[in-house]
Amino acid sequence: MTRRASLLVVDDIEANRDVLSRRLTSKGYDVTVAANGGDALKLVQSRHFDLLLLDVEMPGMSGLEVLTAVRRSRSSTNLPVIMVTARLSGSDIVEAFSLGANDYVTKPIDFPVALARIGTHVALKRAVEDLHESEERYALAMQGANDGLWDWNLVTNEVYWSERWKAMLGYEASDIGSGPDEWLGRVHIDDRSRVKSTLDAHLAGGGPHYECEHRVLHRNGTFRWVLCRGAAIRNASGVATRLAGSLTDITDGKVSDSLTGLPNHVLFADLLDRAIKRTERRAGYIFALLVLSLDGLSRIGDSLGPVSAGRLLVAVAQRLQTSLRCTDAVTPETAGATLARHTSDEFAVLVDDITDASDAIRVANRLQTALEKPFEIDGQQVFVSATVGIAVSTSGYRAPEEILRDATTALHRAQSHAASSCELFDPVMRDRAVSRLQLETDLRNAVDQHDFVVHYQPIVSIDTGRIAGFESLVRWSHRSRGIVGPIEFIHLAEDAGLIVPIGRLVLRESCRQMAAWRREFGADAPDLICVNVSRRQFATGDLAGEVAEILRETRLPPSHLKLEITESAAIGDVPAAQETLTRLQALGVEWSMDDFGTGYSSLSYLHHLRVNTVKVDRSFVSRIGVDDAGAEMVRVIIGLAHNFSMNVVAEGVEREEHLTLLRALGCEYAQGYYFSKPIDSAAAHRLIASQPFRAAAGAVPASVGV
Ligand code: C2E
Ligand code: MG
Ligand code: MG
Repeated sequence: MTRRASLLVVDDIEANRDVLSRRLTSKGYDVTVAANGGDALKLVQSRHFDLLLLDVEMPGMSGLEVLTAVRRSRSSTNLPVIMVTARLSGSDIVEAFSLGANDYVTKPIDFPVALARIGTHVALKRAVEDLHESEERYALAMQGANDGLWDWNLVTNEVYWSERWKAMLGYEASDIGSGPDEWLGRVHIDDRSRVKSTLDAHLAGGGPHYECEHRVLHRNGTFRWVLCRGAAIRNASGVATRLAGSLTDITDGKVSDSLTGLPNHVLFADLLDRAIKRTERRAGYIFALLVLSLDGLSRIGDSLGPVSAGRLLVAVAQRLQTSLRCTDAVTPETAGATLARHTSDEFAVLVDDITDASDAIRVANRLQTALEKPFEIDGQQVFVSATVGIAVSTSGYRAPEEILRDATTALHRAQSHAASSCELFDPVMRDRAVSRLQLETDLRNAVDQHDFVVHYQPIVSIDTGRIAGFESLVRWSHRSRGIVGPIEFIHLAEDAGLIVPIGRLVLRESCRQMAAWRREFGADAPDLICVNVSRRQFATGDLAGEVAEILRETRLPPSHLKLEITESAAIGDVPAAQETLTRLQALGVEWSMDDFGTGYSSLSYLHHLRVNTVKVDRSFVSRIGVDDAGAEMVRVIIGLAHNFSMNVVAEGVEREEHLTLLRALGCEYAQGYYFSKPIDSAAAHRLIASQPFRAAAGAVPASVGV
């Protein structure tokens, strides 16, 4: 395509400008005029000209001065300048050439001569430009033979699109015009602002290349993913005049997972989006999203190695797919199910057109069952299980992220219950998630402000009624809600890693308090302060070092401190936990196994760990007098513990009959509401002073109100 050449005529005499501009216009040039050097320079900076016709003699800024200024930013091939001079002075002309003029004409102007010179220089300039262009285009073509090429002249705002470029969008050569809108107008609405800002940034000088992945509309009405790359060509003053580059179709890599060949999260989000739109259009249309996570995949990966783990994933994908495809009369709900790879160890399933949530649960169960049979990977049998979170469209979603978020929340809930379970998200669940987040923020602040207090619950010697010790139980003294019990926040504190600072606080305060009581009451003081230690404290950080330091600081002899730890924290081969235990025992600190009977450990294992005390869980004690099994369990635990020389504390002693049986079974200590609820330090102080449980003659008095 040839376009009209544009000329700038600079002359201080109006009549000259008029004549020249009229005659040149009639010869097909696009003419702009300027009456002085200053205006001319402004025009050259702001607009494109193919050639400058510059009068030498002008008042103010002379033509030679204008030429000098022009050449600072534009070369003689970039902007040819023909000087117009009245004088036949050779020195003037020589100086003009030395300053970078391309040619000259003399006044009065011989128009045919001037025209010929103008034509020559414009043609020369164009030829040089074409050469550059074709060289650059060639270089780009070499970059990717299969790519579409484009070349945008930013000055004229015309774009050259290669045939391949057009074919990639489904068009013939003649179907596409030369405006940039042929491209930008087809960019997916959600990608447009990103494309534009990336483009603007590059044109403004950001980075050597322009690169952007986006969707573009194909003639057949679908969107293709493309990678658009390019680079600006700038003039001497750094202003971008052209932008040229390539277009690569990356749809396949973009929408399918390279390992399993399933739709990936990008395509899946698209499908979800469509399903959501359908719920808006079609009353009664319901779909569900299942997020399925393979349990312990990283552990499996560690033992199998990455290659075999990849094979396992492929096999899992195939089995899930087969299970979904088996459409029969019994399970019509899987007729419209799409499986996709969601994250490295998660799959997502969109179950279309269901009647209610129960259909989704059935699909989930069916997928879980499909995974039950072992996989044969490289000659090894591998067992996997999956946990599923479900969200159903009836909650009213407007974007894929929303339903994905809810299904994932449901998944996390399911995972916190048990492996291979399945949970449904509902708004109540969502609210719970939101308030949990709020709670976490509040808890963080509470840790910063030390908003915790320790309450004490007496542990009573069944034989003598003497207060043998206290268990320290933390409370959050919440700024608006008052005292909040640990059931509400301990789990969260563990998940959020806050249990470590909270635990340290409780430990220090408990030791300080016990040391104070021992100073005040001497031999009448309780022997032990029992502090709960969480699994997390136990396995990470330097618990033994911290305990040693706190004991030193509070001057409490180690034999008066007992740590309570639950079974799950102590079992397993966590070497760090083992080492912590050994170091604590070396210090002389005792410890007891909390909530015994609720975990999986055996008493012989506890013996091996040199546990001093077993605390029988409340759930067994509370069944004493209710059914025989509860009492039997308590009897067995006490018997075994004694065999291994451990003493026993019964938790949750609430009634006289509990105590009677425990005494008959030879249980050493009892703790529970029958004696006292956990109380603050002042109330505990009063208890120590009054010793209300002391048996006058072996009988323990009834509960005292505190
Ligand atoms: P735990 O260590 O088993 O503590 C005993 C829990 O049972 C306490 O609940 C206590 O108030 C309650 N309890 C005691 N006697 C009775 C009774 O006769 N009937 C009934 N129904 N309940 C009784 P609390 O204070 O709510 O503490 C709950 C759990 O929170 C504790 O269970 C412990 O696992 C954890 N916890 C408390 N303080 C801390 C702490 O400082 N650090 C850590 N890591 N965990 C703590
Ligand atoms: Mg405890
Ligand atoms: Mg307990």
